[in-house]
Amino acid sequence: MSDSARTSTAPRDHALPDRLHELATTPGDPNYQRLRHTYCYTGSPALVLSAESDDDVVAALAHARERGGPMSVRSGGHGISSRSTNDGGVVLDLSRMHAVEVLDRGERLVRVQAGATWGEVAAQLAPHGLAISSGDSGDVGVGGLATTGGIGLLGRRFGLTIDHVVGATVVTADGRVLHVDAEHHLDLFWAVRGAGANVGIVTEFTMRAAEVPGVVHATLAYDARDAASLLERWGAAMAAAPREVTGFLYLFGGGRGGTSAMASIVVATTEAETAQRLLQPFTEVAPVQGARAATTSYDAVVQASGAPHTGAAGGATRSALVDGLDRETAEVLAGLLERGAADSVQLRALGGAVNDVPADATAFAHRHQAFSVLAVVSPARKAALWAAWEDVLEHADGLYLSFETDDDPRRLTEAFPPPTLARLRAVKAEWDPDDVFSHNFDVSRVAEPVTPPGR
Ligand SMILES: Cc1cc2nc3c(=O)[nH]c(=O)nc-3n(C[C@H](O)[C@H](O)[C@H](O)COP(=O)(O)OP(=O)(O)OC[C@H]3O[C@@H](n4cnc5c(N)ncnc54)[C@H](O)[C@@H]3O)c2cc1C
Repeated sequence: MSDSARTSTAPRDHALPDRLHELATTPGDPNYQRLRHTYCYTGSPALVLSAESDDDVVAALAHARERGGPMSVRSGGHGISSRSTNDGGVVLDLSRMHAVEVLDRGERLVRVQAGATWGEVAAQLAPHGLAISSGDSGDVGVGGLATTGGIGLLGRRFGLTIDHVVGATVVTADGRVLHVDAEHHLDLFWAVRGAGANVGIVTEFTMRAAEVPGVVHATLAYDARDAASLLERWGAAMAAAPREVTGFLYLFGGGRGGTSAMASIVVATTEAETAQRLLQPFTEVAPVQGARAATTSYDAVVQASGAPHTGAAGGATRSALVDGLDRETAEVLAGLLERGAADSVQLRALGGAVNDVPADATAFAHRHQAFSVLAVVSPARKAALWAAWEDVLEHADGLYLSFETDDDPRRLTEAFPPPTLARLRAVKAEWDPDDVFSHNFDVSRVAEPVTPPGR
């Protein structure tokens, strides 16, 4: 750590312990502009505490509790579903805790701190021939993604990001620093893999990476004027594809030519001929307007841009999981764009290794669905999306919280099936009885009795 990183020009807050003053950024500080916002939200926190160690996190959390008011936890600042900034409160920022270390190459064990971005993780692991499936953006942080799910471009081959987690360090609401894994604090270990923000602050993860010497990455632009047919055929092609293939499809409405679409497909192989054969069906789902495919390394697919956060990217989003893309589901999703209820609709493939994991193994219990669906609209048109989403719900089977912005507690019952929710509420009641971690889809907001966890 450089001296300048430690030095804050913020006015000294006498209520702040000395050690926290070194970590503090307040509205008078030149760094404040860089730290106040996240990717999606503008914020005016009274205090940002940038921790550099577990002890810093403990001290910062104790101070935030004593001070009262809003408290946000931030890793990469790319949260869509919650607010890792606030107005007038404390932000506990983990971005300085961004180490990535290969602990044991033979066992593929990797230590990853929560404040790293997935682009950094991929870049550090690539020289070792290793990778951890993350989302499609290298700027997304480890902490938010690895505590919620992690639907990535190697997902069908290697599972969700949380499926790579074999242990974690958690700071609990009462300031304990716990190592959790399959043999220590099993309930917490279960909860941090799918609902981590409810039960503590995860400062680092031990993960088992995958052997990924390289991948074939393809991007295709489609003529999407018949969006329903494209979706239906895309669904069939994904369902027929082996687990080496994971594809994300992005549809955009409103342009002069109507709906347009782009696909990003990763084939977990370095064999060009195999990849070509596996990609062929995706060139037949709609007229292709442009296509590129190259053998590359996973880190080239998820490079971080490091662009500063301005809060400008915030849209209103709805999220659902679906079991497949039959004609009716495809028409409903295409209709969101055609009716102007969504600016974009994104589909991320599930299945394969994601669905090998038993539903009760992690707090992300959705282990049979085929796609995650995300619809985005400008905040001004939120009501139109919310109204149109009622039709999507008829075809939905669960929800992935990382893509949802509706804060109605009913979303929690879609995200967590009844046994998961009951167990989660019991874990929360035990580890966060004062509801300190209330800022991200707080499971104690659902009006249901807490039943003993089935363990
Ligand atoms: C451009 C973009 C692309 C995306 N693509 C994908 C994708 O392909 N697949 C996918 O699965 N998701 C994707 N996401 C969603 C993303 O996974 C979530 O928004 C995730 O929460 C972001 O993590 P973060 O650390 O950057 O977020 P932050 O904004 O830092 O945190 C989000 C929330 O997570 C909680 N949190 C953060 N850090 C911790 C921690 N260390 N311990 C406990 N709780 C914590 C906090 O409640 C916080 O408010 C994408 C998001 C964006 C903006």
